[in-house]
Amino acid sequence: MKTKARIIPIASTPKAVPLSTHDLAPLDGPLLDRRDRRVRDLRISVTDRCNFRCVYCMPKEVFGHDHAFLPRAELLSFEEIGRIARIFVDQGVEKIRITGGEPLLRRHIENLIEQLAKLPVELTLTTNGSLLVKKAQALKDAGLKRVTVSLDGIDDAVFKRMNDVDYPVSDVLDGIAAAAAAGLAPIKVNCVVKRGSNDDQILPLARHFRNSGHILRFIEFMDVGTSNGWRMDEVLPSADVIARINAEFPLEAIDANYPGEVAERWRYKDGAGEIGVISSVTQAFCSSCTRIRLSTEGQLYTCLFAQSGHDLRDMLRKGAGNEQLRRVIAAVWRERDDRYSEIRTAATALPGGPGKIEMSYIGG
Ligand code: SAM
Ligand code: SF4
Ligand code: SF4
Repeated sequence: MKTKARIIPIASTPKAVPLSTHDLAPLDGPLLDRRDRRVRDLRISVTDRCNFRCVYCMPKEVFGHDHAFLPRAELLSFEEIGRIARIFVDQGVEKIRITGGEPLLRRHIENLIEQLAKLPVELTLTTNGSLLVKKAQALKDAGLKRVTVSLDGIDDAVFKRMNDVDYPVSDVLDGIAAAAAAGLAPIKVNCVVKRGSNDDQILPLARHFRNSGHILRFIEFMDVGTSNGWRMDEVLPSADVIARINAEFPLEAIDANYPGEVAERWRYKDGAGEIGVISSVTQAFCSSCTRIRLSTEGQLYTCLFAQSGHDLRDMLRKGAGNEQLRRVIAAVWRERDDRYSEIRTAATALPGGPGKIEMSYIGG
């Protein structure tokens, strides 16, 4: 059974409906969804709060001073997250990404990292970088391997306009330096490109990160949720990003690190390093999508654009055993048929279209 999506503006948290474990298929054979995709990547959102108000993610008009974030009791505890993560690893998950909201705002996040670092997975975290100076070493000591830092411009004025809280770019650059010094490398630096807002930052960012050892990646602006006023004409296709950089610094394509990698990889012909593009809108990669998302309040989402989740928190808090959880998770994955980006139309992307979950609840 499913719960309704959290649609902004939020009146209240959707009612938790327990999942049934009746008649679940046995766990023999590989766990595949309806389109023969395996489950490999688990993204865990640890908070719905953020100290930024990025215009494409948590616009101020919607996430204002009076916005009701989740009360603490609604959040999954670290113990609950750890239990679910272990079950996913048993089901084949190889990669776990901690995200949010801003994950470094969650108190004692390093305790969760320490727990998850014991699992046989690649453990990473996506952050806006604002707390990295303070936290990078503790995260590394807790067992984190790498970080991805979001950075939507290198010009201070543009960056401040994108984060919309007047946050200076120099502090994020200091955070990246702190992460590098702590050994959280290679660092990926993600820039969401919104045509007409920050696309003039593509070349300055490329110039800045050439020869740095960090991997700069450009992401197409997506119609996640219903609050960011997405319009197709504000999406700058990755092909244009590559063309602009290639005109100044010749590039050549390189192979994916593994099948199903979402970023298309390129390297500078002069040996100055690697960049990537993530073409979520213009070249959908649903057919190889192996990602599943656990929201801050313990709902499981099988797609970034899902309209409903599956309530694991209710099961956990009603005393479900690991085997019961395992069977439900397997059943959810087997039922998965998502391919939103392949069938996106102007109508599905509009606020009047289906009510999709907000990015800050399930993480990028
Ligand atoms: N606060 C952290 C951060 O910004 O890195 C982690 C959470 S954030 C939701 C994760 C990623 O999603 C960020 O790289 C962000 O730029 C990206 N993102 C958010 N909204 C997006 C959108 N509408 N289109 C494309 N990427 C988006
Ligand atoms: Fe916060 Fe990250 Fe969303 Fe920006 S993209 S508002 S930093 S959660
Ligand atoms: Fe995966 Fe859904 Fe994105 Fe397609 S739209 S790649 S199924 S998360």
